[in-house]
Amino acid sequence: MFKAILIDKDENGHAATLAEVDDGRLPEGDVTVRVEHSTLNYKDGLLITGRIPLISHFPMVPGIDLAGTVEASDHPDWRPGDKVVLNGYGLGERHWGGLAQRARVRGDWLVPLPAAFSTRQAMAIGTAGYAAMLCVLALERHGIRPSDGEILVTGASGGVGSVALAILSRLGYRVVAVTGRTAETQYLKALGAAEVMDRALLADPGAPMQAERWAGAIDTAGSHTLVNVCASVRYGGAVAATGLAHGMDFPTTVLPFVLRNLALYGVDSVMAPRELRLRAWQRLARDLNPDKLESMIRDVGLSEVVGLAPEILAGRVRGRIVVDVW
Ligand code: NDP
Repeated sequence: MFKAILIDKDENGHAATLAEVDDGRLPEGDVTVRVEHSTLNYKDGLLITGRIPLISHFPMVPGIDLAGTVEASDHPDWRPGDKVVLNGYGLGERHWGGLAQRARVRGDWLVPLPAAFSTRQAMAIGTAGYAAMLCVLALERHGIRPSDGEILVTGASGGVGSVALAILSRLGYRVVAVTGRTAETQYLKALGAAEVMDRALLADPGAPMQAERWAGAIDTAGSHTLVNVCASVRYGGAVAATGLAHGMDFPTTVLPFVLRNLALYGVDSVMAPRELRLRAWQRLARDLNPDKLESMIRDVGLSEVVGLAPEILAGRVRGRIVVDVW
């Protein structure tokens, strides 16, 4: 038996509870992992509350991330005792996920835990931090260098935003943090923000072309926020768009693309190819200051997770939640 968050759906609706689950109910897979830490991302909030119907079948164990030790393996790459990390690949949506003490997964989905990180630190990074690094890699591939100008990061007090600030500032970029929580200015500056901007300035419908300021941007919000971000990126710049915390819509015109040569990179972490994942984790080990990572962490137990799910969707969670599943 092992402990897990279990989401079930019946005529009374969708409910998530902390349950004791029999090992025999683990799904198919060629590697069994003793999970040590998991985390709570925005998407986990969506899965646990059922706000968006993402789950393919019930009961489902949520948790899009896990870090732990291989217990048993029929996969050629993994042996008992190996330390591993898993982000995405439909975990918690189509396959039982990481908010549990045990998981059975496909060995192809796993990456080795970088030597630089404990399982707790890997989950402090989690999908949010690994997606932040994918966004940084997208801006770098576009050729944006620190000397090109300022980078704007939206949703800055959240998981993706906090990690993006820490990485970009370590790489030497001047970063401007957009937040709805200006009371967190000190936290954001300690992470590396040179300046903090109130997100209300970007929240309303705006013109598709505005004064040029940013060399590049990382956007976790979507909707009018993303429109206003795209409208103020300088000629030839780029935006890495990864989230929808403001909304799923994108009501703009082609003008910034056809008149300013703007590039909009979509960044998906869930199905990112293995090579890119390995590269992102290598770069996180090199470019993320562990003290800054520590300042983002709130440690919780499995029993607190269900209560925190609506909190993260309401934008009331700062930085990263790490779940010690034991
Ligand atoms: P968090 O909840 O940790 O952070 C989201 C932040 O967005 C909030 O903390 C808040 O920051 C800001 N925010 C909330 N509401 C609004 C709003 N109405 N307008 C503008 N900003 C808002 O979530 P994550 O960092 O885990 O994820 C951020 C987004 O990125 C989510 O939409 C998530 O689904 C997406 N994502 C996508 C991935 C992918 O593979 N495509 C991977 C990872 C995340 P503040 O208070 O500072 O304004």
